[in-house]
Parts: sequence; structure tokens; C-alpha cells
Amino acid sequence: MKSTFTSRSKKEILVVDDTPDNLRLLSAMLSKRNYEVRKSLNSKNAIISVKADAPDLILLDIKMPNIDGYETCRLLKDDPTTQAIPIIFISALDDALDKVKAFAAGGADYISKPFQEAEVLARIENQLHLRDLQSQLEIRNQELTQSNHDLEQFAHIVSHDLQQPLQSMIGYAKIIGLQYPDLLDTDASQYLENILDAGNRMNRLIKDLLSYATVGKEREALATVDCNQVLAEAIGNLNLLIEEKKANVAFSEMPVIIGKEVQLIQLFQNLIGNAIKFTQPEVIPEIEITVSLEPESSWIFAFKDNGIGIADDDLNMIFKTFQRLHDSDKYPGSGIGLATCKKIVESHAGAIWVESVEGKGSTFFVKLPATKQLIKSS
Ligand code: ADP
Repeated sequence: MKSTFTSRSKKEILVVDDTPDNLRLLSAMLSKRNYEVRKSLNSKNAIISVKADAPDLILLDIKMPNIDGYETCRLLKDDPTTQAIPIIFISALDDALDKVKAFAAGGADYISKPFQEAEVLARIENQLHLRDLQSQLEIRNQELTQSNHDLEQFAHIVSHDLQQPLQSMIGYAKIIGLQYPDLLDTDASQYLENILDAGNRMNRLIKDLLSYATVGKEREALATVDCNQVLAEAIGNLNLLIEEKKANVAFSEMPVIIGKEVQLIQLFQNLIGNAIKFTQPEVIPEIEITVSLEPESSWIFAFKDNGIGIADDDLNMIFKTFQRLHDSDKYPGSGIGLATCKKIVESHAGAIWVESVEGKGSTFFVKLPATKQLIKSS
């Protein structure tokens, strides 16, 4: 959308009124206050003038021949290049219904005739100030979006380029261990093992960082996705961990939704992987995945575990990047998994949250939109 925020020293106001006396009166009043004033006696010319050069604000009479004020306002609000210009209606029609109609048409404010000069000026100032603040917010928003995008790009490039040299280091460390075992005393073997451990940790961090930075970048289109399939894939990818921990994973029938399959597999995998990982060593992980349909047509997926749980104070932290509550020695990880989950869920216009009792277990909830058509067929 084209921003109408201007940096000219004098603010420009377009006054539209089919009564020449009113036009003169308002113009004189505004010029006296150092506003640049443009005048128009009818809506048609006003619209042409606004499209040619957007003013900072429009004072618009309601009762005019041919196109009235409401219609003029609607036409300007329908056009993305002019919709941000605040429009204040000025009218002798002074009943509640007209005011409602004025706001419904997109007007920012309403002044009744006969008006007081001070009131008109105060309302104009107020709208100009609001518009300035809104424009500044739009600019900040654009800057933030750009800087987020740059950061993700940076993370993507760095993690991608780090992968290859790291693989070489891990590979050569393995070769030394395999080909020259006789040259290594106990200390040297331990040092080599430390190098491999650190290398593997870094490898995992880079992979997680890369997958975080990649969410939303792949060209995967929205499609109908069978979540039974998603769940089967995610569980399949976690086979080793499931066997190692002797975890039991129970689940109910899953729905078909509109989404991005690869991302959803990653989401399910991260949540189930965590549910298995964050359990006390002596406890057999019992994971239960269920789903329910909310009245406002959203699916709520629940990933319940009997793990270590999360303290109340930490519940908000865990969805941020690099936030971990434990040492890598105890529970390996990068602290990027849940941030990736959040990004995936938000890119599906959904939400993610957790309820947990420390020492007893956690349930992660994922809310994803459901479409009526898919609910019937699922
Ligand atoms: P990682 O698993 O790589 O450490 P995540 O971003 O997936 O990173 O999780 C962040 C932190 O949230 C974890 O380090 C852990 O402390 C906590 N956490 C995540 N899932 C669970 C869970 N199911 N039970 C208990 N704690 C969890």
C-alpha cells in the first residue's frame, strides 16, 4: 500500500463542499493556521485531485449533488493508494444515524454544522497526529520485516556454509580414530572423542538453525494434508529414539487439513521428539496425541507426555530461539526446535501453547484452522 505520510513542512488539507461560502470560510480559517488548503466544489473533481496528489487530510461535506460525501469516502477508502488519508465529514445533518453512516463509510471523524472554529482545528490536529503516528508505525514495521528477513537470510547462509567445513573436521577426526589407533594414548583418544562430540553438537545446531531459517522459504504450496500420514512420517523419523527409550506413542484418528506437509511433519516430529527426550532416565515415555474440533472450526492437537514438566516461570521462554532449560549433557538439543514449531504454526495462521506440571508432564497444544468442507470429508 502506498503510504500517504508526507514530510512537507505545511500539512495539506483538501476541503470539499458544494457551497462556495462554506469553502471560503473553511479555507480562510485553515490558511490562517498555516495549513496548505486545496478546494473542490464537487466530489468528482475532489477524487481526481486526491488521486493526482494525495493531501494529508480531507474535510468532506456530506450533502452534495451527484456523488454525495458517503459515496466519495467509500470510493477513496476502496482505493489502496488513497485509503489511508483521514476523512472528516462536515455536515448539517445532525442525527445519530448519519454519524453511524459516516463511520461505516470509512470516515475518521464527524463535525456538525454550525461548527466552532476551535473544535474543527482540534479535530483536524488530532487526525493528523494519529495519521503521523500510524505512518511512523508502518515505516517501523517495514524496517522490522526487512531486518527480520535479512537476519533469516544471514542465518541461512551462515549455517549452510558452515556445514561443509564441519563435515570435513568430523570426517578427519573419525579417520584419525580409525586408522591410527596405535598412535593414540588414553588422553589422546579422549580428546578425539571430545572433538567428535563437539562436532556432532555443532552439526545438530547448524541443522536446526538451517531448518528454522528455512521455514517459509521453501516453495511448498498449501494443499490438503492427511495428518494421519504426517503423524506416521514423524513417528517413522523418530524410530531410533523411540526404540532407544522404549517409548509408547498412542494416538487417535487425525483429520485432513489444509497445510504444508513437510512443515507439519517437522512440527509433529519436534513435539513428539521433545516429549520422548524430556523424561527422567528411569521413566518409560508415554506419549498421547489427540485432536479435537473447536466450535469456531479449529483443530486443537494435544501432545501429552509424562516427562519432567516445565516450571511456570519458564513456560513463556521455551518458544524463543536458543532458550533451553537444561545442560546439553543431560538433555541434548539446540533450543531451536520449539521456535521452529512456533514459526510453522504461525505460518499456518494457528497458535501453539503448553500446559505443564513440573515433575509430572506437559501437554503441548497446537491450534490449526479447519475448513468446513474438510471436516465433512474427514
Ligand atoms: P531443544 O529440544 O533443542 O532443547 P526446544 O526449542 O525444542 O529445544 O525446547 C526448548 C526447551 O523447552 C527444552 O530445552 C526443554 O527445556 C523445554 N521442553 C521442550 N519440550 C519439553 C517437554 N515435552 N517437556 C519438558 N520440557 C520441554
